[in-house]
Amino acid sequence: MRRHLELLREWGFKTISFKDYSAYTGGATVLPNRCVILTFDDGSDEMYQNALTLLMEFGAKATFFVLGDRSLGINNWDHKRGFDRMNLIEDHKLIEMHNAGYEVGSHSMTHPVLTEVSTELAEKEIRDSKSLLENLVQEEVTTFAYPHGATNDFVKKIVEAAGYSYGCGVYSGPPKFGGDMYDIRRIPMTRRTNAIEFALKMMTPYEHYAWLRWEAGKRLRGFAG
Ligand SMILES: [Zn+2]
Repeated sequence: MRRHLELLREWGFKTISFKDYSAYTGGATVLPNRCVILTFDDGSDEMYQNALTLLMEFGAKATFFVLGDRSLGINNWDHKRGFDRMNLIEDHKLIEMHNAGYEVGSHSMTHPVLTEVSTELAEKEIRDSKSLLENLVQEEVTTFAYPHGATNDFVKKIVEAAGYSYGCGVYSGPPKFGGDMYDIRRIPMTRRTNAIEFALKMMTPYEHYAWLRWEAGKRLRGFAG
């Protein structure tokens, strides 16, 4: 991640938050020519330890999407599927992070595939996480990230009706930011993304092709969302 932040700095990118973007669309501020919103999903304790230290060192802003069910403790949704067990960030650290200026967004209550659960459960996951996190950080939570990146028009409408201003997907959503505020396409980076891949994803039409591939695959699979 250090290399990623160094590259962004070398290329003249400034990090902004969703709040900055809202201020911009409301006419209250201007944005730098090259800007990027950094987001982190799931809210692991490791992320708190490592990512936050680096973000602070680089003076970079970021949004952390965390679970509303604060009693989960670990990433049981992934751990059950064979992924490494990961401790989730504790409340006091989340509050500390928020107080340091980092944005907190919702990643649902318990990380279900929202396109596969009942309407009642989807509504509960989306609404309850908003109010719980708002109570915790004492600020409005305006952004939502779909667990597993799974969304469709129906889920997007619930997110909008719950009062969020932004919904983040992973591979879905139009390639250009602003095309659909309830299906914001993100560019996934992991600790295994090397500098060349990072440059390809950030500085070339690579991501546009990735989106075309996604769209073509969606049609082939007959997938509606
Ligand atoms: Zn997640």
